[in-house]
Amino acid sequence: MKRFISAIYLALSVSALADAPVTLVLHGGAGIERKKLAPEKEAACRKVLEESLRKGFAVLKEGGSSEQAVIASVMVLEDSPLFNAGRGAVLTRDGTVEMDAALMVGSTGLAGAVASVHGVRNPILLAQQVMLKTPHVLMIGKGAEDLAREQHLRFEDPDWFITPEQKERLERAKKKDLPKGAYVPVPGRDVSLLIGTVGAVALDRHGNLAAATSTGGLAGKLPGRVGDSPLIGSGTYAEDGVCAVSCTGHGEFFIRNAVAYDVAARMKYAKATLTDATHDIINNKLKKLDARGGLIAVDTKGNIATPFNSEGMFHASMGPDGVVHIAVFEE
Ligand code: ASP
Repeated sequence: MKRFISAIYLALSVSALADAPVTLVLHGGAGIERKKLAPEKEAACRKVLEESLRKGFAVLKEGGSSEQAVIASVMVLEDSPLFNAGRGAVLTRDGTVEMDAALMVGSTGLAGAVASVHGVRNPILLAQQVMLKTPHVLMIGKGAEDLAREQHLRFEDPDWFITPEQKERLERAKKKDLPKGAYVPVPGRDVSLLIGTVGAVALDRHGNLAAATSTGGLAGKLPGRVGDSPLIGSGTYAEDGVCAVSCTGHGEFFIRNAVAYDVAARMKYAKATLTDATHDIINNKLKKLDARGGLIAVDTKGNIATPFNSEGMFHASMGPDGVVHIAVFEE
């Protein structure tokens, strides 16, 4: 009898776990200004976001993990020249592409990240390799690229990453925001020209959370500069039972304020809801510092939050009902 009862209990708890409301949320960067976003560009970006959403969500629907889902989604955005990650990444002051990416898996608490890598087609795959194949969390530059070669990841020529739009963006940024060619993050400066980034957070049917972020960083950054995206707890964080977070915006502020972990900490220790935690950080704490940006987050019940304090942030989500939501200027 006892065995029978525990079998029923186990079956119930497994089905309860299998019932988590699969949810995927994406962002394509917070540096969007209404008057600078042409309708054709917006339509093209929405199309790619939908493709990315459907790809990641298909993984979740088939019972795949949140880790697999966020990677599948981010790869679509990295491959698109329209977003600041992988192909289409912004350029450094010297006109080169240096990419950062991070992945964190809530069920294991493991994470992998890369910074300042060149030529690797999908930095998010390399972040996963750091997590899976090394005892480290964050690898940079040549060492990270050597790992990519060892793991047979795909490389592309430097020119493959550089789009005419980003060349032009660098020129404009240099004129407007880069006096003497040096990027200095000054509060109050218009960063709409400079910021971008892509990210994904997901809850899978087993109730496991994951977060992934990939970026070229800030346009016109000094070579060697690393932003918040690959820093666990700043731009990227996931913890089962709490939340998964991916940020976008003026990275220096997100680093100094440990934004992604602050969301989790407020939920864990102050019992804040996902909505309250994320909104307070973006719309009060960061806004007071004149720090522009936003984030996407999902909690363990499938609640989502997409706050931003810039004019617009490309973001998209899909929950158990399978309905596609894509927005730019409203949450
Ligand atoms: N947060 C990224 C960085 O500072 C840029 C962005 O999200 O736009 O590198």
